[in-house]
Amino acid sequence: MSSTATCIYCGGTVRLGKSRGDHIIPVQLGEFREDVRFQRICQRCNSQIGKSEQQLLQCGNERFFRDIVKPNVPSARRRRRKRGRPQARGAAGAPGPVSTYDHGDHHALMNPLDDGSQNAHPVDHIVIQDGQGSEHYFELFQGMRLEQLRERISKKHIKRIVNAWLHCVEKRWNEYEPLLQAICPKGRIEELPSMERGIHRVQGRITLTVTNHYFRALAKIAFHYYLARCRRKFVGNEDCFSQIRDFIMTGGDVDQFFRQPGPTFLMPFGELPSGDVITPRQWCHVFVADESSNVLGVYMQLFVGPGFIPEPRYITLGTVDKPIIVPSFVWGHVYQYDDTQGSGNYAGGIEEVRITRWR
Ligand SMILES: [Zn+2]
Repeated sequence: MSSTATCIYCGGTVRLGKSRGDHIIPVQLGEFREDVRFQRICQRCNSQIGKSEQQLLQCGNERFFRDIVKPNVPSARRRRRKRGRPQARGAAGAPGPVSTYDHGDHHALMNPLDDGSQNAHPVDHIVIQDGQGSEHYFELFQGMRLEQLRERISKKHIKRIVNAWLHCVEKRWNEYEPLLQAICPKGRIEELPSMERGIHRVQGRITLTVTNHYFRALAKIAFHYYLARCRRKFVGNEDCFSQIRDFIMTGGDVDQFFRQPGPTFLMPFGELPSGDVITPRQWCHVFVADESSNVLGVYMQLFVGPGFIPEPRYITLGTVDKPIIVPSFVWGHVYQYDDTQGSGNYAGGIEEVRITRWR
């Protein structure tokens, strides 16, 4: 027998079932044993939210933790990914991560290998420093015409080129140097010593760019976690959640939902009042839902790891008129990755955790 409900976002009909609904943690980060899916969402709304999730997975720092943990995902999806996941891909209007290394007076672009190592390929490119001291990177390719480069530069609205550097493999220097001279006609070409072949340890940095979509994906994870585990029979379509629903589906002011009041509760991992720090043995995601005042909210830490404790994010979901009568209505779960990620359907399991007040 299958029962139905209404989608909390659009009001459409939803068929309920164990294998339906939204994975609280995006499925590309692995499925967890005994996870509870959020059911009251239709396919259409779910796939719309999926676009925001792609930005979280490709452009947020979650991308790097995903490369470290390498969560086990069911085999069909894994094959699809292996067939050629482009590097540094952007999503939902945000560019992919930009990796650079430090040359002292400027940074140069590099292309990290997609194998989770810290190694990188050099990239043929021109770096332009503008009047504000910002750097812009323009990749070059064989046969590139000057108009093509100019067009890319004009898209960045650079008012004044203060400095420009060309980085390329030696055999392409004669091809690319005229491009550099054309965009920087008054510049003096100065050749820097070329790098020796081989593996270099360089001082690198990675620039991440995210838009509203990133925060919408985080808000969705927190909201669906709360609703899937809610002990007060909230469904999600109540008026008190109308603003977070709008934010998740259409965006809005991030600061309205993301504040950092500092945890009022002792998170399962992190600093203790004594000053000691507890870190987990395995990578995990931590959630704590708080209904102890008239503000309903979730503390969330994605990718807590051995020796790595991210600051908990606090996400406000809604406000109810009357404070909730039962005091300390707080609960939490740890989504923990298994020690070894192999084959199979699951990447880890879930544990409920006891939460205590900070003070
Ligand atoms: Zn819907």
